[in-house]
Amino acid sequence: MDESKQPLIGLNREQLGQELQSVGVPAKQARMRVNQLWHWLYIRGVDDFDEMLNIGKDLRTELRQKYTIGHPEIVEEQISADGTRKWLLRFPPRGAGAPVEIETVYIPETDRGTLCVSSQVGCSLTCTFCHTGTQKMVRNLTAEEILGQIMLARHRLGDFLGMDSDPGIIAPLEGRKISNVVMMGMGEPLFNFENVKQALLIALDNDGLCLSRRRITLSTSGVVPGIYRTGEEVKVMLAISLHATRDELRDVLVPINRKYPLEKLIEACRAYPGLSNARRITFEYVMLKGVNDSLRDARELVELLAGIPAKINLIPFNPWPGTQYECSEWKTIEKFAAYLNDKGLPAPIRTPRGRDILAACGQLKSESKKLLAKQDLPLVEG
Ligand code: SAH
Ligand code: SF4
Repeated sequence: MDESKQPLIGLNREQLGQELQSVGVPAKQARMRVNQLWHWLYIRGVDDFDEMLNIGKDLRTELRQKYTIGHPEIVEEQISADGTRKWLLRFPPRGAGAPVEIETVYIPETDRGTLCVSSQVGCSLTCTFCHTGTQKMVRNLTAEEILGQIMLARHRLGDFLGMDSDPGIIAPLEGRKISNVVMMGMGEPLFNFENVKQALLIALDNDGLCLSRRRITLSTSGVVPGIYRTGEEVKVMLAISLHATRDELRDVLVPINRKYPLEKLIEACRAYPGLSNARRITFEYVMLKGVNDSLRDARELVELLAGIPAKINLIPFNPWPGTQYECSEWKTIEKFAAYLNDKGLPAPIRTPRGRDILAACGQLKSESKKLLAKQDLPLVEG
């Protein structure tokens, strides 16, 4: 990607209209041109201005001089034995600093295909069981970089309409490889709210990528004000990294709990708009041996979540070098799940995917850590 040029991906329709006018498109035509561009960017997924057939040659030349389309650069693509794919992507520096690398993971299942998207390089939080938490926060990803992960994955998986199909056609919803998007990669999405919001609103656009609100899930460690804003401004599905049922334990596992304790977090969950049995909040719960995996914990979980349309994702802990934690015994996890299911709380056990390519939760690495050591960038607070 040419770093001196502004990428078009990630701009909303209004911003795109302003950019078009800045290269001489008359105000009256701007709307029509925005629609054309939008189609090429988000329905066809083109990565070359010359493919934009109904845009005149002169305008294409103008656009090419000032902008790039903005598909990310792939450093590496890995495919696991179970079909999971992982891309290592490189983004140019923003202002001062070095290029950064992040990972995006695609997980195919029988009834869906889920893309796991990152929101930051590193994370400013320090959850003690999470590998990302041990890494420095480098920077927020821009809206274009967040959206670019979806664009790139769709491109690689063949989800965009081919160039040979009728230009009047809107992308079919059936048969897409990526049906679901989860903001569960690296970073805390609610500490990068504006960019995450902008990217998701573009991904939801009915005349573009057309993802469904019920099939996008934003996962947060519990940034309470951001949960309220998500419910009002983005309205996607919510996942909470809960991991503990008591403040004293959650303070250690998920230290942001000291700022937003369980009572405030649960209050925000109860108030989340549009909840029903078909639209539940997912509570993620990592199973840590001897730490949070007793039947007492299971009982407290049921009490804590009483009355909230909820589902618990039980995640077997993925160990990493240097961690003090161990994964619970399989039979303990099964007992824990059985207790919750018995009390009417659906509690699927998430089987790790893509183990051979290190694609599981909390294993996404940050190459930029090495770059950072050289550059010695200051810490960025969320
Ligand atoms: N920062 C956000 C989203 C990214 S983490 C959040 O914390 O919600 C995605 C999920 O993976 C979170 O629930 C996180 O707690 C969990 N996770 C992190 N490290 C893990 C590990 N080593 N094993 C299992 N799950 C882990
Ligand atoms: Fe950051 Fe989420 Fe990891 Fe906590 S679990 S350190 S919030 S990425």
